[in-house]
Amino acid sequence: TVAHEGILRRQSLRESAARTYARSLPIVPVRARGLTIEGADGRRYLDCLSGAGTLALGHNHPVVLEAIKKVIDSGAPLHVLDLATPVKDAFTTELFATLPPGLAADARVQFCGPAGTDAVEAALKLVRTATGRSGLLTFTGAYHGMTAGALDASGGAQDVRVTRLPYPYDYRCPFGTGGARGAALAARWTRSLLDDPKGGVPRPAGMILEPVQGEGGVIPAPDDWLRGMREITAARQIPLIADEVQTGVGRTGAFWAVEHSGIVPDVMVMSKAIGGSLPLAVIVYRAELDTWRPGAHAGTFRGNQLAMAAGAATLRYVRENGLAERAGTLGERMLARLRALAAEYPVIGDVRGRGLMIGVELVDPEGQSAAPAGADPATDPADGGAERDPAPAAPALAAAVQQECLRRGLIVEVGGRHSAVVRLLPPLTLTDEQAVAVLDRFADALAAAVA
Ligand code: PMP
Repeated sequence: TVAHEGILRRQSLRESAARTYARSLPIVPVRARGLTIEGADGRRYLDCLSGAGTLALGHNHPVVLEAIKKVIDSGAPLHVLDLATPVKDAFTTELFATLPPGLAADARVQFCGPAGTDAVEAALKLVRTATGRSGLLTFTGAYHGMTAGALDASGGAQDVRVTRLPYPYDYRCPFGTGGARGAALAARWTRSLLDDPKGGVPRPAGMILEPVQGEGGVIPAPDDWLRGMREITAARQIPLIADEVQTGVGRTGAFWAVEHSGIVPDVMVMSKAIGGSLPLAVIVYRAELDTWRPGAHAGTFRGNQLAMAAGAATLRYVRENGLAERAGTLGERMLARLRALAAEYPVIGDVRGRGLMIGVELVDPEGQSAAPAGADPATDPADGGAERDPAPAAPALAAAVQQECLRRGLIVEVGGRHSAVVRLLPPLTLTDEQAVAVLDRFADALAAAVA
């Protein structure tokens, strides 16, 4: 316990104030296995943050450890820039075996810097190079990373070349309708903006979207809307980039989340779970886009050998054990129980998700509507506008629920546009019993937070 407190104190003094997770989760993990993390003070936690969705197989899964040990024991080099190695060959083979059929036939892979944001940068650069155009279509509430280009592609985009479009957020629908109609209006907005000869945007280099917005508050895009975006971009020769950094590797109930809608993007951005706990990021794209000159995209750390070995083992395990399907069915059951909880608690404004990517949006049921009276959603759906549900978001309550969860040995994340969405991203190896334990603790925490 003394070590635990000393470490927390020293880190809070020495580390930048920009620390993120460490501020809301004052624990010092020293051991972990599967769903469980053990702190330096001996306390144990069920980890439903999973390294922000990285740990598809939970902590220290035996097949991942085995794969890492095998590389180390073999005497293989741990770093050889982007040279071809047996480890890389095995990873690429495994990755290509997971691709949606429409892409697998004619795909190229580019290994990027170690993080998701590096792969996003590469994707943006690729489509700009291939099309010779510079504009970019992105969506309200999007999150693509923290480096300059990825940041511009995210919800609060500033770059003048970036055009933000409405994402179909059923609960806080920018058109005030929600449902299929809200999604259809969002698609229509996009179509008319591109085709407007006067006020519209010039043909952009690409469109980037998350099939389920993660950091934006776990907002699954309807399949019809995704098909609409595919149709709109294909008709205008605009490459479509699917950011599957968080949704990939089985999390949403399909190996890649785009498979639910059947769309085939031109570029897929992958990171987090593909490295089996270690940093790894790639883009996979139609060979036709591979127009950049040799050396046009470089970097020292691309495709770490240990990460590729851990990643290949993870991809194989998820595929061979049907963990995507498992995430889909278990996720549905967890959502059903959370919806039952919502019926009891008016502070739960919305329960949503896909597979084991789950969000519970907390609201102030008595608060005044955040929607400006008389707002015309048609004039600017991306910036506020009328919201279908008038209950304002409750970020303080979400923070309190997170703390009550922690007190009960459960780690959850809080995110969303108003920081009021409690997020669950458990490993895909979650057992039925563990799922019940997680939801029991969550229900207790919620009861304590509203008491
Ligand atoms: N894209 C998406 C959809 C993400 O969720 C994230 C990270 N949460 C990123 C990109 C950026 O990844 P990284 O933090 O590894 O840079």
